Amino acid sequence: MADKVCTLPFFYGNITREEAEDYLRQGGLANGLYLLRQSRNNLGGFALSVASTRQYYHYAIERQPNDTYIIAGGKSHRNPVDVIDYHSQELDGLVCLLEKPCNRPKNMQPKVGPFEDLKEKLIREYVMHTWNLQGAALEQAIISQKPQLEKLIATTAHEKMPWFHGSITREDSEPRLQNGPRRNGKFLIRQRDTNGSHALCLLHEGHVMHYRIDSDRSGKLSIPEGKKFDTLWQLVEHYSYKPDGLLCVLTEPCPCPDRESGDIRRPPLPRDHPGLAAASGFFTRLKNYSVPIPGRKKIWGGSRHNTTDNLNPYETRAQNNQAADKEAMPMDTEVYESPYADPDELRSSTVARNQLFLEDGELGSGNFGTVMKGIYKMRKTEKPVAVKVLKNNDDNPVVREEMLREASVMQQLDNPYIVRMIGTCEAENLMLVMELADLGPLNKFLQRNKHISIKNITELVHQVSMGMKYLEEHNFVHRDLAARNVLLVTQHYAKISDFGLSKALTEDQDYYKAKGHGKWPVKWYAPECMNYFKFSSRSDVWSFGVLMWEAFSLGHKPYKGMKGNDVMQMIESGKRMDAPPNCPPEMYDLMMKCWTYKAGERPGFSVVEPRLREYYYDIAQ
Ligand code: ATP
Repeated sequence: MADKVCTLPFFYGNITREEAEDYLRQGGLANGLYLLRQSRNNLGGFALSVASTRQYYHYAIERQPNDTYIIAGGKSHRNPVDVIDYHSQELDGLVCLLEKPCNRPKNMQPKVGPFEDLKEKLIREYVMHTWNLQGAALEQAIISQKPQLEKLIATTAHEKMPWFHGSITREDSEPRLQNGPRRNGKFLIRQRDTNGSHALCLLHEGHVMHYRIDSDRSGKLSIPEGKKFDTLWQLVEHYSYKPDGLLCVLTEPCPCPDRESGDIRRPPLPRDHPGLAAASGFFTRLKNYSVPIPGRKKIWGGSRHNTTDNLNPYETRAQNNQAADKEAMPMDTEVYESPYADPDELRSSTVARNQLFLEDGELGSGNFGTVMKGIYKMRKTEKPVAVKVLKNNDDNPVVREEMLREASVMQQLDNPYIVRMIGTCEAENLMLVMELADLGPLNKFLQRNKHISIKNITELVHQVSMGMKYLEEHNFVHRDLAARNVLLVTQHYAKISDFGLSKALTEDQDYYKAKGHGKWPVKWYAPECMNYFKFSSRSDVWSFGVLMWEAFSLGHKPYKGMKGNDVMQMIESGKRMDAPPNCPPEMYDLMMKCWTYKAGERPGFSVVEPRLREYYYDIAQ
């Protein structure tokens, strides 16, 4: 949403309430004159400033955990623009109707907050350190998980700030502030305890004041009785700009002496986020604890705010405000990188039978035989794997050849959004050992999980487009792209599978021409496949459109009840499937683009993926 809002002429970005009032004054202060700005305390939130009877009114438009926006006590809306549209018709608690936007002065861009500038760099460093990724794997992680990473970074970015001194005592903090220039407003923040609570230490008239920073049940931070913030850096930004109850504004960060030595003290790490538990350096997450802290008796300095430490014993921090933390990201799983990305694991196209342990029960079955779950004992680790076992009674060499061909295509591919082939194993049967995607096919998953959010579906479909973009770039055509052939590792991680029909094109080949009609998934095939047997990345794009339709219809069958021939006729006559119920118009529009009749006019994955990415970021930020 944030990107779209940035283009609104009455959006000012990260300006203060006083600056907003200045702009409204310059705009003539007419009743109902309004502007929109970025919230300075609620992550992803906004603030609406309105003039009425020559006074100023400010309303927080908070972003809710379910990604809707509300003015406290009001109706929820899909985005801040809808909030404004609504209040231009309905008072519903506002002082007046929103009559006229107060547009930014010419040539003024929305003001970028200090964090925005740092964000990109922090995200990159965070992913590098936390998951030890580099190169393409790093880029892909950032692209696919940007909204989640932004939220994580926002709540850990303070660790990078010069004013953050980690876990030091009150006694340790005082000489640090007293050393060097002793300007009023010199400050630092220290971590107080293993519950992630903090203290703001402020130098004023030669004395150090300690303000406790509480955290409520939802993780919001505040100096007692003060304004609430999602993050420490927002709190610092606010009190740097006005004292709001402190003895003075924060003027100058007290540099942390440990920072150069990289020896910032911290309490033990939380254990609920596998990626983070592995992290080191700055990028260890300190929020998300659930340890109750008994109140203490010590009286702290301070003015208007009650800075005693023994009021309101701390609540548990069992609930964290960042739902994103609780969802494992693709990089947290064992199948984000190839098992051979570890140089200590020898890359081999074959798997020794004595290293492979099959478990009872089938994951599924297909033309060739059954797919079983197993464990592959590697040099350093044991990997859970899926093993495709050729039917015992199938001594047909053609079937065997086909299976080996599928393995050889997969062995050439290495992408986080494609099921990797680990190796083939020739034993009692021919076996293909693949990465395990435990949650099974996307269509079935959606049929079982009807309450999945549009954001979640878009996230998965976007990942598929990333995998397909990789195939397109490497001149592979999949030829069987469908929701049944997308397997889920987690609810937030999809991989493309089933390369049985796939073809590698040579550099000078734009398409693969089949010799004749086969046992084809007609409902997923582009007109040129059916009419001329021509297969290219563009025909995969057509299939991808059908896959999108399946995903947004929660696993329904496309062209329900129709025969292949009827579908072909329907396509030839220019008709296309209707949008699934509740499908976002942007997504239906993209499906329709994928179903462009002429392959040459159809977008490639290099266009489809960024379109999906843009929409995903838009709804997920
Ligand atoms: P068909 O040719 O009929 O499409 P197939 O013989 O190629 O099928 P697959 O579709 O590859 O077989 O696999 C059949 C089923 O096995 C899948 O639908 C899925 O449920 C399960 N399966 C396949 N590969 C994996 C995997 N890597 N991880 C987990 N489950 C898998």
